[in-house]
Amino acid sequence: MQVPAVFQYRRATSVEDALSLLAEYGPESRIVAGGHSLLPMMKLRLAHPEALVDINDLTELAGVRVEGDALVIGAMTRHAALLTAPEAGAHFPILHDAERVIADPIVRNRGTVGGSLCQADPSEDLSAVFAALRASLVIHGPEGARTVPARDFFLGPYETVVGQRELLVEIHVPVRPSTSAYVKVDRRAGDWAVGAAGAVLTIVDETVAEAGIGLTALGAPRFVAEEAEEFLAGGPPTDARFVEAGRIAADHCEPVADQRGPADYKRHLAGELVTRALRRAVGRV
Ligand SMILES: Cc1cc2nc3c(=O)[nH]c(=O)nc-3n(C[C@H](O)[C@H](O)[C@H](O)COP(=O)(O)OP(=O)(O)OC[C@H]3O[C@@H](n4cnc5c(N)ncnc54)[C@H](O)[C@@H]3O)c2cc1C
Repeated sequence: MQVPAVFQYRRATSVEDALSLLAEYGPESRIVAGGHSLLPMMKLRLAHPEALVDINDLTELAGVRVEGDALVIGAMTRHAALLTAPEAGAHFPILHDAERVIADPIVRNRGTVGGSLCQADPSEDLSAVFAALRASLVIHGPEGARTVPARDFFLGPYETVVGQRELLVEIHVPVRPSTSAYVKVDRRAGDWAVGAAGAVLTIVDETVAEAGIGLTALGAPRFVAEEAEEFLAGGPPTDARFVEAGRIAADHCEPVADQRGPADYKRHLAGELVTRALRRAVGRV
């Protein structure tokens, strides 16, 4: 039986309380949200925090709403809640596409949007989605609040800009006219991605005004296929250009071979999935 090492456990009553508990317990304390990534790592002794600060009582951090010109998603919003939030699907169908293929109902009922982003697993679907959406992440800490673009949030595998004494509080997605989609290849339903791609397009007068392309588990820097985005912007949204954008994305990513497949297969997948995501997004216009 896998058992985690001994740890202290405290339940935060507010954002301020969570921050003061992180300060009190010091560098070896960790936030626990859904616990679906952290607890398995603790059981395997890959993580051994001395104290867990539980933020599950912070209901003020759960929920999806439109505020001004942004879709605001609380860090404690469960995957299942994002999947059924009408505001999310109405503005950004990519969010529902992605949530539909994240794990299974048991994980989705417990795992949180903030936990997914802070975990920064290269296979985490929402990292690529929020990077493609050009979202901003609101982080609270001892010095107050700061906002970081999703594209600057990830420092590398399992590493983000969130400091040990900080808490991710909200995700803001600027609401604008757009169409979007997410497509994923997994070995079995509910499995982590072999590879996945998300596309967000703003089309004005038959021209792509802005393109966002995210890649999951395919070795794209910061989860983004930037060269493909630059290629698409300013041109017509044609199928030939979508195929070319896929080729460019495949050329610029660096997938690694693992139990889910060899690198050349994943590179092929990157191209194919980018093209499919773009086609699906445009098919929704
Ligand atoms: C069987 C299984 C299958 C899965 N399949 C997929 C999948 O297909 N696709 C996918 O994307 N994910 C998948 N997941 C992961 C799932 O989405 C988790 O919910 C997610 O990785 C972590 O969310 P959590 O709320 O459980 O975070 P936790 O495990 O509680 O925390 C994860 C990390 O984030 C930190 N953290 C959490 N919240 C905050 C915060 N607000 N501020 C600062 N730090 C914070 C914690 O300290 C910890 O380091 C799967 C998980 C399981 C168990």
